[in-house]
Amino acid sequence: MSVVARVSRALSRASLSRACADGRVVASANALRDHSSAAMSQTATPTRELGAVYTDWRKEEVRAMYARPLLELVHDAARVHRMHHDPRQVQRCTLLSIKTGGCPETCNYCAQSSSWKGETKLKAEKLMGVDEVIEAARRAKEQGSTRFCMGTAWRGPSQVGTGQFERVLEMTREVKEMGMEVCATLGMLTPEQAVQLKDAGLTAYNHNLDTSPEYYGKVTTSRKYEDRLNTIAAVREAGISVCCGGILGLGEEEADRASLMTVLATLPEHPESVPINALVPVEGTPFKDMKPPSGLEMVRAIAVARILMPATVVRLSAGRINMTPETQALCFLAGANSVFTGDKLLTTPNNEKDEDAFLFEELGLEGRPAFVPYGAGGPSSDGSEWTESMHRQAQQQQKH
Ligand code: SF4
Repeated sequence: MSVVARVSRALSRASLSRACADGRVVASANALRDHSSAAMSQTATPTRELGAVYTDWRKEEVRAMYARPLLELVHDAARVHRMHHDPRQVQRCTLLSIKTGGCPETCNYCAQSSSWKGETKLKAEKLMGVDEVIEAARRAKEQGSTRFCMGTAWRGPSQVGTGQFERVLEMTREVKEMGMEVCATLGMLTPEQAVQLKDAGLTAYNHNLDTSPEYYGKVTTSRKYEDRLNTIAAVREAGISVCCGGILGLGEEEADRASLMTVLATLPEHPESVPINALVPVEGTPFKDMKPPSGLEMVRAIAVARILMPATVVRLSAGRINMTPETQALCFLAGANSVFTGDKLLTTPNNEKDEDAFLFEELGLEGRPAFVPYGAGGPSSDGSEWTESMHRQAQQQQKH
């Protein structure tokens, strides 16, 4: 390398450090060029204020951010996290599969598709009864969960009889009455179904984009990316908060991960909740031999999500079972502020309750109460105002 190149490289690094130190994030693609072969654009990247909410991120900016040295990225993400969230608070959520198996969709990572039931040997079950689900929600609440998510292996409620959808609406009403945030993941929704869920008191609707638009065809062919975006738009239109994220380890490139993040961060409003999942390969599925992401790849994805979507709750989701406590700690530092608790995540195993209690204690974490505003001072997840006294009340409730 020539002297001029070395000096220019050092200056680039110095200018990047200064930009970060005074609260300004990556001012120019030049500053990042040395760190990444993925910093493809020669066009100047607009100045971004660290911690400010933007919905006009460009793919090349996100790719450059994705390629930053990990510890610098985590440092910035931790700063953003502290601007918008109480870093001690990590929400415990419980996800229950209320209708397992027999799904007509073909997500290549999923054990619940009927297309490979011969290989996975997973038996289709009926939709659970209301009482059984409420009992599970009660147990989850006793164990510190403040958000209860119900999942069905459906293409969408339109695929099943109205009686089954009515039953889910009843579950929603009853869980909400327990004072928990209630989330559902039922597949594709029509605008009318979204309104019915809203009227039943649903807090959030989960509908993951899984991966980039470019790679989506490799993940499933039974629906299009656009179908996902339409459901997300219907959910938003109905006034339900959006939970939407992805899965790492589906065979995608890093560019796909950056592309997924760009889609999420350029929605008209950021999702209030972004789950980041690591693939847990399941025997018998087409993706059984895919290599799950490393812990540090998860940390990187969480840090990028935190910087791009400062006010969002970033959820460290599936695959946590394979992470060391140290990696999980880095994820929390990088801005993750939710985990899933309970023995299972739909059909894949999850961390033990006692392990989590120990981790929380060791890291000085506390459970995030239900209905904390998503962004500092913003509306809470059910649209009501959140006051300091409500916060204290919720913390008291959690202790009992
Ligand atoms: S991920 Fe959901 S939609 Fe896809 S096959 Fe599994 S249950 Fe069905």
